[in-house]
Amino acid sequence: MLVKVIIVFLCFMVLVALIGRALFPSALPRIMQPPKPGAKCKRCGRPQIGTKPCDCRGRA
Ligand SMILES: [Zn+2]
Repeated sequence: MLVKVIIVFLCFMVLVALIGRALFPSALPRIMQPPKPGAKCKRCGRPQIGTKPCDCRGRA
């Protein structure tokens, strides 16, 4: 019975996350956001891959 409650709770959390992501995509932490196509580095202007920081960080 307890396992069933936990599963329902997890499903509820996933549902809330999906709804929140659909409504407020910019309010999510950066790691949860889908990579924006054409996103560019603010420093060097190179297109960025994924959410990791650009290679120029700390060097430019
Ligand atoms: Zn850069």
